[in-house]
Amino acid sequence: MKFSDVIGHKELLGRLRDNIDRGRVSHAQLFVGECGWGTLQVALAYVQYLHCPHKEGGDACGKCPSCVQIEALAHPDVHFTFPIINPTKTPTSDSYITEWREMVASSDALFNEHDWYGAIDVSNQQGIIPKKEADNIIRKLSFKAFEGENKSVIIWLPERMNRESANTLLKILEEPWEKTLFVLISEHPEDLLDTIISRTQTVSVGRIEPEELARYAVERLGATPEAAAQAARVAGGSVVALRRALGEGGGASADNFELFTHLMRLSFSNRHLELFEWAEQVAALGREGQKNLLEYSLGLIRESYMLTAGLEGVSHLWGAEREFCLKFAPYVGNHNVEALVAEMERALRDVGQNGNPRMVFSHFALAVSKLIAQRAH
Ligand SMILES: [Zn+2]
Repeated sequence: MKFSDVIGHKELLGRLRDNIDRGRVSHAQLFVGECGWGTLQVALAYVQYLHCPHKEGGDACGKCPSCVQIEALAHPDVHFTFPIINPTKTPTSDSYITEWREMVASSDALFNEHDWYGAIDVSNQQGIIPKKEADNIIRKLSFKAFEGENKSVIIWLPERMNRESANTLLKILEEPWEKTLFVLISEHPEDLLDTIISRTQTVSVGRIEPEELARYAVERLGATPEAAAQAARVAGGSVVALRRALGEGGGASADNFELFTHLMRLSFSNRHLELFEWAEQVAALGREGQKNLLEYSLGLIRESYMLTAGLEGVSHLWGAEREFCLKFAPYVGNHNVEALVAEMERALRDVGQNGNPRMVFSHFALAVSKLIAQRAH
């Protein structure tokens, strides 16, 4: 990926280019931001520019063997580490490199953790980066560079390292590896060891501007300019959210809609016992599915609130979602919206911290139903 292929981030790319041009590449960098904001795109373009021996016009040439290999994610000196499932059977990221290449190629390197687990058919589990993987990095770095002199290691979601592998990574980062660049791409740097953070330089990758998202939606996703503009406005700077707003990446959204509306119906009809059945159903989804549902619900609560506030023009909903939220909007207002959002964020945090899903969602369903039942007047 060339700098010119990255969506948005022009200023950041300028700074990264400058660092390489002036030979001021810090050996370990922590790119922070949501996956949908294009953190992996930025990292790939950065590494490709670093390795390209024929830079031209402030960008990688895109044609030399180094560029071609990096674009195919098959450069012998550029290594990838990412979360995997069942590391006892399938030891390292290398076992999933084919799926990884397909995922990156088919999504323009714009996908999130959930998409990745879907691609390796384990939607309801959460991956880890095991210690074997960290050992594997050491093994790979012990070889001389095959081509050119630089080596790069891209670690996608280092927060998925367990304690053992994080400690090994820390040792790797402490060691001086000649001409080796580590790029860590993290959504949740607060879950990393402080000692890892202190040994890396943080690079904040911000949201993508709505205009850039809209252009991408038209050019790459075939959206009409009107739909593109609407989706871009509510995508929060994320291509992953943009695709979802345009109804791509389907399936999961319909199930989430069912679950969300079911919970809301139970809430305003006081069918409290059935709330526990609902919680059971959600508990069975697995952690990634639960997070997805909660994020989706947060989106609909916000949309409903906008409708209550009379900001109908701001809403991007249509079809069944719109119909439901118009009816539901009076139940969400100044009196409860903050508490509702807080409950959803709390459940997200609990799920992320391995809380018992039955307890998390029983509590969640009860709390939300009470809040919904509170009428404003
Ligand atoms: Zn090149």
